[in-house]
Amino acid sequence: MKIICIGRNYSKHAKELGNEIPEKPVIFIKPDTAVLQGNDFYLPEFSDDVHYELEVVLKISKGGKYIQKENANKHYEEIGLGIDFTARDLQNELKTKGLPWELAKGFDGSAAISKFFSKNDFNIKNINFDLNKNGEQVQNGFTKNMIFGFDEIIAFASQYFTLRVGDLIFTGTPEGVGKVEENDILEAFLEDKKVLDLRIL
Ligand code: ZN
Repeated sequence: MKIICIGRNYSKHAKELGNEIPEKPVIFIKPDTAVLQGNDFYLPEFSDDVHYELEVVLKISKGGKYIQKENANKHYEEIGLGIDFTARDLQNELKTKGLPWELAKGFDGSAAISKFFSKNDFNIKNINFDLNKNGEQVQNGFTKNMIFGFDEIIAFASQYFTLRVGDLIFTGTPEGVGKVEENDILEAFLEDKKVLDLRIL
């Protein structure tokens, strides 16, 4: 199983980090060992600035390569939420040097993932998703604000990576990303339903 992630897919988020609006999807991959087990996220020793990024996650239900945009919606049946934990200090250092981001994005536990729900229960074009930190809302996303929609992402990524059943796609974070600290509580909501409840240690 692989985790394909999209960077800078919400323009307000791209801008808050001082990045340009991309012309093509920005893609990176997390290994399967990045999946967080349980509800406790341990801050890694190599970073002093770990950020949360709440994202809608697609679960691939039908594999394929060179998937056409028109057929892309047949390749996932379920969606959930995920937090793309990012060692921002390390990522900035790597970016400055023109190096890959994997150390900052793909470390153990860096992908917190909720349960999955039938996509038919949602208005896929405008899903609302929120993140609360210590009881206060810090992110409030709507998928209509994505630069590249789900189908475009699947079509684009599958030109390079064969998609297999069970692969996950993190579709990008809206604005409001920020640092987590010891003892923080993160709660993620898909529409009105709480789907993630994490403790930072
Ligand atoms: Zn992200």
